[in-house]
Amino acid sequence: MNLILLGPPGAGKGTQAKLLIKKYRIPQISTGDILRAAVKDMTPMGGKAKSFMDAGALVPDEVVVGIIQERLNLADCSNGFILDGFPRTVAQADALAKVLSGLGRSIDHVISIVVDNEELLERVTGRRTCRNCGKGFHVSFDPPKSPGICDECAGELYQRDDDREDTMRKRLEVYEQQTSPLVEYYKNKSLLRSVQGIGSIEEIQQKIVSILQG
Ligand SMILES: [Zn+2]
Repeated sequence: MNLILLGPPGAGKGTQAKLLIKKYRIPQISTGDILRAAVKDMTPMGGKAKSFMDAGALVPDEVVVGIIQERLNLADCSNGFILDGFPRTVAQADALAKVLSGLGRSIDHVISIVVDNEELLERVTGRRTCRNCGKGFHVSFDPPKSPGICDECAGELYQRDDDREDTMRKRLEVYEQQTSPLVEYYKNKSLLRSVQGIGSIEEIQQKIVSILQG
């Protein structure tokens, strides 16, 4: 089961990925994480990536794809994988397709979790995080017993910069701009399936699973 999961910030992509990992016993491959790991382990591609990073340059797509390739060769990917945060552009999608075909593999499904922007704004801007222990709350859906104070440790709750309304609107705009060409790309390859990300975690999971098993 080789999957790509798409979804704007706040759509519940991470939560759904965690459930899929357990159900199908496949790893989630987040490019940020594997890039850091490759650099730390000094894999051939990690070494290349490091030279760009040390020079203050962006790591080029072909190196990122090379690192994904190194990761896919590890044993835990034999049943499949969930790609998270990659590809972000059509060029990256093409590069990925090439690498996969070289490995005799291909993407089985691209699942796009769709949630209306106003709903996402409500979800994200209501989040509060404890400065002391990092525990998360939500002013409407999971409020602390006393406003502004952590239930666990009495630490101060604050709103992360990423969760502020202006930041969130910008993140949604960037997501939309980046992702719409990708959505078209996978639609044209008949790989894209959209799932409404509204309802309980279990309901959304059920919708995804029925696509994967369909
Ligand atoms: Zn706390």
